[in-house]
Amino acid sequence: MPYTWETLKTECLACRNCELCETRHNVVFGVGKTDAKVMFIGEGPGENEDLQGEPFVGRGGQLLDKYLAHIDLSRDENIYIANIVKCRPPKNRDPREEEQAACTPWLREQVKLLRPKIIVCLGRIAAQYIIRPDFRVTKEHGVFYERNGTLLMGTYHPAALLRNPAQKPDTLSDFCALREKITELGL
Ligand code: SF4
Repeated sequence: MPYTWETLKTECLACRNCELCETRHNVVFGVGKTDAKVMFIGEGPGENEDLQGEPFVGRGGQLLDKYLAHIDLSRDENIYIANIVKCRPPKNRDPREEEQAACTPWLREQVKLLRPKIIVCLGRIAAQYIIRPDFRVTKEHGVFYERNGTLLMGTYHPAALLRNPAQKPDTLSDFCALREKITELGL
């Protein structure tokens, strides 16, 4: 039986397929419009996300929302946001390979249901998992790659921008390039 958004979310919220289930407060399934043409994917929930059950809600999330608003996108209206792993890695460490492997079937089903035209990877971990294992954000941010009819692009993770504001202008230009692409494709 193929998943619906409801059945997928219900199963995912009960998932115990890797050890991250032991330390999570909430499974962070994803949020946004389920008919969005643009999907954003990050690496995993942080502390605030774990506590609230929603992706990108801390200071990094607020920064992301500003960039989104700048190009007329918002999680309430026209995008969907999810993470590679749905439970918070302790102390915000990088998700381990086996955790990513255990969790990505949920993401794959989300992508299958959404069928986005553009996927934006937020940060190195997401870009290396989704675009290419040797993807380098500093060199390839803002570049669109086509795969099976979907455009993939990587940019900086908002939490990285809080640590290193010098990357903000590049990120803004990536978001402007995204807006141009959305307009060009008539999405
Ligand atoms: S991180 Fe993913 S695979 Fe691991 S328990 Fe959470 S939902 Fe399941």
